Amino acid sequence: MRYLSTRGDSSSPTPTFTEILLGGLAPDGGLYLPETYPQASAAELAEWRGLPYHALAFRILSKFIDDIPACDLKSIVDRSYTAAAFSHCRPGRDAGDITPLTTLEPDFHLLELSNGPTLAFKDIAMRLLGNLFEYVLAKKGEALNILGATSGDTGSAAEYAMRGKRGVRVFMLSPHGRMSPFQRAQMYSLQDDNIYNIAVRGMFDDAQDIVKAVSNDHEFKARYKIGAVNSINWARVVAQIVYYFKGYFAATRSNAETVDFAVPSGNFGNVCAGHIARMMGLPIGRLVVATNENDVLDEFFRSGVYRPRATAETHATSSPSMDISKASNFERFVFDLVGRDPAAVRELWAKVDAGGSFDLSETPYFAGLAQFGFVSGKSGHADRLATIRRTYEQYGVIVDTHTADGVKVAAEWRIHGVPMIVLETALAAKFEETIVEALGRAPERPADLRGIENLPQRVVTMDASVDAVKNFIRSHADA
Ligand SMILES: *Cc1c(COP(=O)(O)O)cnc(C)c1O
Repeated sequence: MRYLSTRGDSSSPTPTFTEILLGGLAPDGGLYLPETYPQASAAELAEWRGLPYHALAFRILSKFIDDIPACDLKSIVDRSYTAAAFSHCRPGRDAGDITPLTTLEPDFHLLELSNGPTLAFKDIAMRLLGNLFEYVLAKKGEALNILGATSGDTGSAAEYAMRGKRGVRVFMLSPHGRMSPFQRAQMYSLQDDNIYNIAVRGMFDDAQDIVKAVSNDHEFKARYKIGAVNSINWARVVAQIVYYFKGYFAATRSNAETVDFAVPSGNFGNVCAGHIARMMGLPIGRLVVATNENDVLDEFFRSGVYRPRATAETHATSSPSMDISKASNFERFVFDLVGRDPAAVRELWAKVDAGGSFDLSETPYFAGLAQFGFVSGKSGHADRLATIRRTYEQYGVIVDTHTADGVKVAAEWRIHGVPMIVLETALAAKFEETIVEALGRAPERPADLRGIENLPQRVVTMDASVDAVKNFIRSHADA
């Protein structure tokens, strides 16, 4: 399996999986995708239906990764997806399922993706990434210093996945005093030698700007082997394909059935994996993209206009992990939409990268959208509160704010007789404040996370200065 760039021409080299694993963007600024989508045959779907998560993951990942020996890949996958690591499931569920299905009513389900260490779906891909990084770095005899900025979920998932991994150090910037006490405690209470929490006096954007500035200093980047684990990383996308298959098998009895998925979306990473599962032949009818008040993606699927917003135009909402105005993985889908024509993608993203927008409404591409199954909708704060209340009253289930956006939009698109599966992207315990606002009481917190705010914390605080961060890396990097 070879990978190509969404902006590349046919003369560009086509790397293998491990060659793109540690990098981010392709050299031409595009995103990597497989040359062709491997297909899941009827015989394979029949065999896969009965498999436990780790075995299913191995089957699917093997189709995309052919430069890691099968026995090594199997051991990496087995270690990533253990019941012990995904123990935060609802009472009565089997943690070994990794992503159990909760049925709200016939043909209306939640796929639990948030039972990992940090209570959000990002753990599923990050755990695989942590083990893949460690394996590939050991093979190459190299080290990597991961530099990132987080407003909450991504940073904690990355730290829990990378803690204790040989050859990897994590330098995670977070906005000083801006995260919830629970989020702070989750990250800062890690005592592992290879994890460095840096609280920056400023906002998330200041932290993000520092990461960009450091990454653009090519000499520093090479000297200190700076890497990233951001959402455009291909391995993160491919890991997420697995649970669409798992959810499909759990919600159906035969492979003749079709299901719909609803996906709370910001960066288009999660739903991009659904698109690829569908392209592989998984019987998915529609992919319902649910946004919050930051509705760039909903606007596109309704009108054909993609208009990323300026940072100042981004709303701070009660589903904060979707407060994104530029969907970094969207380019992958558009590549398929324009018939995999990299020249067309280059032309469209020349506009986006210059701060502009593009409009496909008058093109045949827009008419072709339906064939990819995408529909969309949006949800606001009042919808979120009402949905959390209704889901609790009707089904006795407390959903988090992001999942509530998914449930709200999913309900608008349900078809009688077609199972609708809403991806549960976080647990309610992570967003207590809004749950209290909706229900008048806090959600239950998993026993092992009670009192986490009282643990000793390990964090250095510094001004929002590129030089200060570089100096810190210089004195702590594994070089
Ligand atoms: C990251 C995140 C999302 C958005 O996922 P994308 O892949 O960026 O679309 C939704 N919900 C939660 C809880 C998240 O952490």
